[in-house]
Amino acid sequence: MKVNMMHGAGGEVMGELLQTLTKFRNNNAGGIGLEAMDDGAVIPFSGTNLVFTTDSHIVRPIFFPGGDIGRISVCGTINDLAMMGGKPIALSCGMIIEEGFEIDDLAKIVASMDDALGEAGANLVTGDTKVMEKGALDGIVINTSGIGIAKNIVRDNGLVPGDVIIVSGTLGDHGIAIMAHREGFDLGEQIKSDVAPLWGMMEKVLDAGTIHAMKDPTRGGFASAINEMAKKSGVCVRIQEEKLPIRKSVRSAAGMLGIDPLEVANEGKVVMGVPLSSVDSILSALHSHKYGKDAAVVGSVTKGAHVIMETAIGGERFIEPPMGDPVPRVC
Ligand code: MG
Repeated sequence: MKVNMMHGAGGEVMGELLQTLTKFRNNNAGGIGLEAMDDGAVIPFSGTNLVFTTDSHIVRPIFFPGGDIGRISVCGTINDLAMMGGKPIALSCGMIIEEGFEIDDLAKIVASMDDALGEAGANLVTGDTKVMEKGALDGIVINTSGIGIAKNIVRDNGLVPGDVIIVSGTLGDHGIAIMAHREGFDLGEQIKSDVAPLWGMMEKVLDAGTIHAMKDPTRGGFASAINEMAKKSGVCVRIQEEKLPIRKSVRSAAGMLGIDPLEVANEGKVVMGVPLSSVDSILSALHSHKYGKDAAVVGSVTKGAHVIMETAIGGERFIEPPMGDPVPRVC
């Protein structure tokens, strides 16, 4: 069997490939390791929790409405650190560049990375560059790794019955922005990617109350993230369809494209489960930040299994874990 595009699409099919790629006997440095398949690893060191994560970026187009490959490559790593409760400290960057790539474009990518780093209070401290022959690669690939420090670790598997599910804002913006741009849609209002570094917001939110579990709904979108959280926690999640924040423009573009906005990547959002006693304080911390102003309660956690959507017309259906993100090369 050979690798196909679905193996990189962040859903059930990618999960099958990961069964091969995660077969390391040496996979844990004393805290949370590869076996947990969380947003990052944790290495206890000298009384602190070091958080460590890595992410490669192949998004096309390289410059898209609301961002570019530089911003996404910094935000991807900062957000995975933040999802573990980690304050981002230092990032590395490996760039693989195709012969013929415009140096002006590289300068724009670097400036955009630097802006995102500045916003999150992190630094890019080490890097590597390789150039491949024309045709060997489609433009540029950027890998970033990052280390952070967490006062309190937050996992993606800590949901308990009684928790309330909160999303930090509108769902589907990034994936639908990429797809609408590729298809040349003109919907009046341009759909922009939500790509953003979330540490500033998460720092406030972590101080505001208790979070039992959280995850950023990137490839595979909300549907993938909430299913992973429910399955790992051994609980049932019930979502109320009419409470899901989805922009009108995103909903209509998604409809035209035949794509479920719940299955596409977000690059500046968080899904979290919080105890009832922390809902108000966490929501107000989210609402006070520019990246959380559309935050909403969308459901709750009960005993059982699966993710169930209570539909707007009074029915119920499963939100299935998607086979993969319907938008290829989305991040
Ligand atoms: Mg993540």
